Amino acid sequence: MDSPEILYMVVPCYNEHEVLRETAEQLKTKYTSLIDSGLISPESRIVFVNDGSSDQTWGIIKELHSKEPKLFSGIDLAHNSGHQNAVLAGLMTVKDICDMCITMDADLQDDINTIDEMVKKYYEGNQVVYGVRSARDTDTFFKKSTAEGFYKFMKVMGADVVYNHADFRLMSKRVLQELANFKEVNLFLRGMVPLIGFQNCKVYYERHERAAGESKYPLKKMLAFAVNGITSFSTKPLKMITALGLIMSAVSVVAFIWAFITKIAGFTEHGWSSTMCSIWLIGGLQLFCLGIIGEYIGKIYAEVKQRPRYIVAEFLSDVNEKKENQQ
Ligand code: UDP
Ligand code: MG
Repeated sequence: MDSPEILYMVVPCYNEHEVLRETAEQLKTKYTSLIDSGLISPESRIVFVNDGSSDQTWGIIKELHSKEPKLFSGIDLAHNSGHQNAVLAGLMTVKDICDMCITMDADLQDDINTIDEMVKKYYEGNQVVYGVRSARDTDTFFKKSTAEGFYKFMKVMGADVVYNHADFRLMSKRVLQELANFKEVNLFLRGMVPLIGFQNCKVYYERHERAAGESKYPLKKMLAFAVNGITSFSTKPLKMITALGLIMSAVSVVAFIWAFITKIAGFTEHGWSSTMCSIWLIGGLQLFCLGIIGEYIGKIYAEVKQRPRYIVAEFLSDVNEKKENQQ
């Protein structure tokens, strides 16, 4: 192998003060062993992205950086931008200073021992290495069934996502540069990365329980994430509306014939309940369909505004500091 390449870890953190020190400690041990074994360059860094936390998260990141600037870097976002935006902020900030980059949650749910294998797969020529959960034993029944249902539903809806893969993945510098060309505001990285292509592979790991703190993805956020995933990557719901409209029209022709026959036969008052039912049914369907259309219009609205997806308030990095000192 030629000289080892630079690996950056991007770790989004939102109110993670309970777990952050432990995460930093474990990542430090991992990095030390990776550097010692010559698998990654000593220029490699761990970057914590503070996503507008209201607790001591940023204070801890600053402390980690000042104690070990050659290991820990930090990015402070100006406000809470959401998990996906925080990950993207990290990726775009490091894309020119790393050779490869791994994104990972701050709560140690992803197995950091998978990092070795990911890096080896990168050296074998893979530009993207997806971390895929082999088991979901530690998830609650509810989380497991909703999450697995989500991947299946995404597939049916026509969005190409890797089954049971969240945002634990390695990407090469080349892939990051291509990702920079995706200007969309409604981010769904799991759908975007497969679109980039290049040689890729999967590595399997067991997902643990959160090391400390609470999940930042309550049911409401999870549902919003799923709706965003589907409407950002598939126009199938729109096509389904057209199909539904066609079917309803066909049914209404039959209903019309039926109404006509009953009228001739003189049973008109019997039709009251069925009429009421159909009014409710059609009213409901129309509202539902309008809702789906509204979802897409909302997306177009957000996209045309082209607002920045995140704002970096500060980037703490020894690489940056060195550059500034030279100037
Ligand atoms: N996160 C973030 N911004 C947010 C919400 C979450 O950066 O607005 C981070 C969070 O700190 C964690 C990761 O995204 O590192 C995943 O969140 P979490 O572990 O709470 O989700 P879960 O694993 O429960 O789905
Ligand atoms: Mg988690």
